Amino acid sequence: MSFVVGLGGGIGSGKTAASDRFEALGVTVVDADIASRTLVEKGRPALQNITKHFGKKILTDEGELDRAELRQRIFTNPEEKQWLENLLHPLIGEEINRELANANPPYSILVSPLLVESGQAQRCDRVLIIDAEESEQLSRTTVRDNNTPEQVMGIIKSQASRETRLAAADDVILNNGTLEELHSAVDQQHTLYLEMALKNT
Ligand code: ATP
Repeated sequence: MSFVVGLGGGIGSGKTAASDRFEALGVTVVDADIASRTLVEKGRPALQNITKHFGKKILTDEGELDRAELRQRIFTNPEEKQWLENLLHPLIGEEINRELANANPPYSILVSPLLVESGQAQRCDRVLIIDAEESEQLSRTTVRDNNTPEQVMGIIKSQASRETRLAAADDVILNNGTLEELHSAVDQQHTLYLEMALKNT
């Protein structure tokens, strides 16, 4: 497996904007969020396990996972939340490893909203955090998702604190400016990671 750079950051910090730029530079980007959704697609064993545990009401009429219903079920029930995490975490780890094993050399990016919280940072050779002022996170996310500032603040509070994330970082990109500035910061990191990864092989 090649050199892996974990890319994390709070909601609306600019992880996707940054990882899109890495992708444009030819770097394979594995997205933990997408991996976790792929796992529970119709017909996958994890979805069968979830249906067995929660009952058929957890499925939509089309037989897909009803995410809103699942969120409801685990929101007020820590034991159910734990059950689900015990099922999914190892599977997400396997899915990520499978995708990373097929990545382009010499390095790849693992982007995850829960990089620090989930322990995924520990399997990375380097941790890059995209950091933005809370006011930027709020305004970007409310515009993008049509959420209220209160909803976004709730998510920010449920995530690792800025201090915790920064303490786990080897590298930090401040994303309070324009997209062009973000791209040029990513380009600089890319040069650095190419050097590191090539030294590592
Ligand atoms: P989430 O955790 O919610 O998936 P994220 O960290 O992936 O968020 P992005 O989706 O990359 O964040 O960015 C949030 C929104 O802000 C997007 O609409 C993105 O295009 C925009 N954005 C990101 N960085 C900048 C910037 N420097 N200037 C202007 N807009 C930006």
